Amino acid sequence: MYDIQALRKEFPILGREVYGRPLVYLDNAATTQKPRAVVDAITEEYFSVNANVHRGVHYLSQQATELHEAAREKVRAFIGARSTNEVVFTRGTTESINLVASSFGEAFMREGDEVILTVMEHHSNIVPWQLLGQRRGVKIKVVPMDDDGRLDLAEYEKLFTSRTKIVAVCHVSNVLGAENPVGRMAEIAHAHGAHILVDAAQSVPHLPVDVAALGCDFLVFSAHKVYGPTGLGVLYGREDLLERMPPYQGGGEMISRVTFERTTFEQLPFKFEAGTPDYIGTHALAAALAFVERTGLENIARHEHALVRRAVERMQHVDGMRIYGAAEDKGAVVAFNVAGIHPLDLGTLLDRLGVAIRTGHHCAQPLMQRFGTEGMARLSIAMYNTEEEIDRFADALERVCRMF
Ligand code: PMP
Repeated sequence: MYDIQALRKEFPILGREVYGRPLVYLDNAATTQKPRAVVDAITEEYFSVNANVHRGVHYLSQQATELHEAAREKVRAFIGARSTNEVVFTRGTTESINLVASSFGEAFMREGDEVILTVMEHHSNIVPWQLLGQRRGVKIKVVPMDDDGRLDLAEYEKLFTSRTKIVAVCHVSNVLGAENPVGRMAEIAHAHGAHILVDAAQSVPHLPVDVAALGCDFLVFSAHKVYGPTGLGVLYGREDLLERMPPYQGGGEMISRVTFERTTFEQLPFKFEAGTPDYIGTHALAAALAFVERTGLENIARHEHALVRRAVERMQHVDGMRIYGAAEDKGAVVAFNVAGIHPLDLGTLLDRLGVAIRTGHHCAQPLMQRFGTEGMARLSIAMYNTEEEIDRFADALERVCRMF
């Protein structure tokens, strides 16, 4: 039984009003709201444990370290990594990708080497590779897709050469919402002697993600999109690769011994975690993942899919509606435009009716160019959204469209 009303009570913000109307929050791909368990974890740790981790001999420091390392173990189990050595905490998906581009690039890439991206990547999975390209003379190749948003795997395979070192692809697009065949893409990459990074920012909150089953070499996600705190992310990396990659940043925590002549580095994963980590955030992320597990990712997916189907069904009755990407296998994201109405106007007017959606280029300008548009409107669903909210969105959308 999916008790949606009991679930919603765990998220106090869902009870608030905007413009005197009950809030309908449909911008979950940008960030999710937080359950009490996550905020309680933050408050409890600040009020009763707080101390810097790892080198303290005193009681509180050891307790904080235990919580921080227990969180790493929680993440390891959640994504099916073999060892906590493979779980690096970062500031978010963006920093995780920058770390890999920079450090993998330095270790393994030379001038003329190639990276393969897809046309639907978020800017955070494009720009770090471009920066690497400028520094190292690395070339970017792009996997095309059809009009339904399905990647062209035959074209993908043709992009490989002996210089291809890595593929970086989103598991689920933050615009099109469908799952990419990243397991198959990993097999193809490996058959060509290349590695693969999976941007799981939009999949970890919605479907079971297992790094071993996917066969990926790197996987990245952000805590704030999976009901956890903001400013924290995860980089999963295969241990043998991380071992061979140089540190991304230098500082405390990541060293073994420092002299002015020479520094030796800490073991994994600490080699990649310079400075005081967000140990409060990691404990809160563990609480978020436990919350997701208690609710059940399969239950969440079933619930969200039903809501997406309902949204798409109602949206299709709107004159001039264009939904981007194949509608039938969408997870939790629906991007659209209505002919003759600027998406910004749509978003602004829906907001006045209490409905929060996102409009703009969604940090995926190359994808906007692929569809020949400047921007789109997008609703994105989370475990706590309801049928009634979808109907309120659709009613509001119809009302706005009638105004035009
Ligand atoms: N990749 C994808 C697919 C995303 O949806 C996002 C966030 N919109 C990011 C990367 C970047 O995540 P963050 O801003 O948390 O680093």
